[in-house]
Amino acid sequence: MRQSKLFTRTKKEAPSDEVSKNAELLIRGGFIYKEMAGVYSFLPLGLRVIEKIENIIREEMDAIGGQEMKTTVFQNKEIWEKSNRWDDEVVDVWFKTKLKSGGEIGLSFTNEEAYSNILKQYISSYKDLPVYPYDFKEIFRNEVRSKSGIMRGREFYWKALYSFSKDEKEHNEFYEKAKMAYQNIFKRAGIGHLTYLTFATGGSFSKFSHEFQTVSSVGEDTIYLDENSGIAVNKEVLNDEVLESLNLKRENLVEQKAVEVGNIFSLGTKFSEPFDLKYKNENGEDRLVIMGSYGIGLGRLMGTVVEALADDKGIIWPESIAPYKVHLLLLGDDENVKNEAEKVYESLLKNKIEVIFDDRIGVSPGEKFADADLLGMPYRAVVSSRSMKENGIEIKKRNEEKGKVISLDELLILLKSNA
Ligand code: ATP
Ligand code: MG
Repeated sequence: MRQSKLFTRTKKEAPSDEVSKNAELLIRGGFIYKEMAGVYSFLPLGLRVIEKIENIIREEMDAIGGQEMKTTVFQNKEIWEKSNRWDDEVVDVWFKTKLKSGGEIGLSFTNEEAYSNILKQYISSYKDLPVYPYDFKEIFRNEVRSKSGIMRGREFYWKALYSFSKDEKEHNEFYEKAKMAYQNIFKRAGIGHLTYLTFATGGSFSKFSHEFQTVSSVGEDTIYLDENSGIAVNKEVLNDEVLESLNLKRENLVEQKAVEVGNIFSLGTKFSEPFDLKYKNENGEDRLVIMGSYGIGLGRLMGTVVEALADDKGIIWPESIAPYKVHLLLLGDDENVKNEAEKVYESLLKNKIEVIFDDRIGVSPGEKFADADLLGMPYRAVVSSRSMKENGIEIKKRNEEKGKVISLDELLILLKSNA
């Protein structure tokens, strides 16, 4: 990608009504555009990050048997009445709208009903179970607060997987696999070291649900963390009995603010009952399906990475989700330097290294450095008359103070080696 062709530009300031660091940096960098409070469009750079996060999640879900599909945003009133969740008195985050032909539809705020209804058409025998369908989807919630940038949107993009199992044992086996998959996702996205498995208020039939909480001063949740075991307890369930059951000691726990980047729930028969979602077991007897739900907000995860890893100059992307691996900078307007930078750019492309090339003419080195820091690619490679005097390219990582000059061959080896 040539920066001279990118339609977005960096900005010195974010909108004055934006209070969160993640949105401020992402807007200034041209990753997202703020449409209104809690509603953001994803621009080319931002979409690349979301797509990388999506691919990590997809790989981890497929690895535990997930089957990807795509459910509709428009929701049928009759289906939600079965579980008694259509009423605005029961669910206060609904967005709904009227059809010209009469009647009302809702916009998805979650997916249990849609999945239960679809799977009911396909599950009838023990041979049909277990199954683990999932999708990536826009979700709409009329949230009261939306001051956390893309970490709490009124419209947001999530992955939700639902498990359909024959019995508690089969459910628990999958639930443990999902826990591991979630830990892999946060590790791969670069915040594993800050993210803790957290015991939270229970779903149906299990004492707890599990949240994945990333320690951050801007988190809306409070957790109590046991650094030895890496386990945390959400403040909402903290009491003596709970601590005892988890073998935790109050005096070993540290209070932290944290962001819930994902959560997993045992649903038991909460939805299979109202949807009459049953199968026949090997003896021909009817049994209710046991369900679980497994969610992650992709925007929330992206915003959390920005909050947790940025420095005072800008964003620092982990390689796994960076829009581009390397930011190549051409400094000055000398013809030889320009030709050399073009040559380096072509070589990087040929070697399939993801590169954004700041080929802009008439932009000062200071501005280019500041942009590279704000945009946060993992590596910065500079071609200038100075680097050419040393017959090479100055390379440094985003979080390193000083770079070193290396040859083009060395640059290719370095950037390909940790692909
Ligand atoms: P919270 O308690 O933060 O409101 P929740 O418990 O209502 O979240 P779930 O319904 O469990 O959220 O949704 C699953 C995941 O979706 C969450 O773990 C989070 O990553 C993400 N998520 C929830 N609400 C939002 C939102 N408004 N904006 C962005 N992501 C969200
Ligand atoms: Mg939750």
